[in-house]
Amino acid sequence: MNPIKEKTTELLDLFRVKHPTSAYEQRLSHYIPLEWGQTRWTGAANSHSFILVPECKENKVPEPEAKVVNLQGILPKAVLYQAEIEKRELIDMLNEIPLIKTNETAECPSCEGAGRFEHWGDTYDCQHCQETGEIRTNRTIEVRDPEYVFTLDGKMITSDNIDKLIQAIAVSEAEKIYYMVTTGNDALLLFSLDYQIIVGLALYRPLNAELKIADIAARCISMQDLETIEVMRA
Ligand SMILES: [Zn+2]
Repeated sequence: MNPIKEKTTELLDLFRVKHPTSAYEQRLSHYIPLEWGQTRWTGAANSHSFILVPECKENKVPEPEAKVVNLQGILPKAVLYQAEIEKRELIDMLNEIPLIKTNETAECPSCEGAGRFEHWGDTYDCQHCQETGEIRTNRTIEVRDPEYVFTLDGKMITSDNIDKLIQAIAVSEAEKIYYMVTTGNDALLLFSLDYQIIVGLALYRPLNAELKIADIAARCISMQDLETIEVMRA
């Protein structure tokens, strides 16, 4: 494989659903070619985040045979401004979120994650996993404390999503990260990696949880850029 194709695949695979367990997830397992803002992109998505890599001769993917999610339809209408994010500071912010121990979960082997299964033409609720599709393994794993969330431009993002963004930064070896101020979809936060690759993160809407807030703007964006954003939002 050529190096551009290899890197593109590595980036897309960070985001797409690799082991789909439902028809919806099936649509998130494909590479997604699309057009946006006069550019051809190759994308990949899961239900919380997506990535767009500019298409070129080396990394072009064939049109998917199966139905994919409509990534094009959720992209914002216009990019108004790009404010630089201090990369090092953002990585530090994620690393400051405490790790907590939790039980690892895995797909239920009886229903393969569906929560129910078919037997001789009838559908049964899965007793093995109480219809959740997940079982606890005996292993404990460490995850970022979910009580901590990030905010930027008045929107909340989970640390899982920030982690995804930082993984994409590492794989792409991007030097500069920008927050894209956009119009057209308030449920998304868009980031540009070296003005090339785009990472979209879905807004987090907590259900009456007490959260500890890590403010990205306060630590990672210059005062001048913050003022510009404020003027645009007014
Ligand atoms: Zn089950």
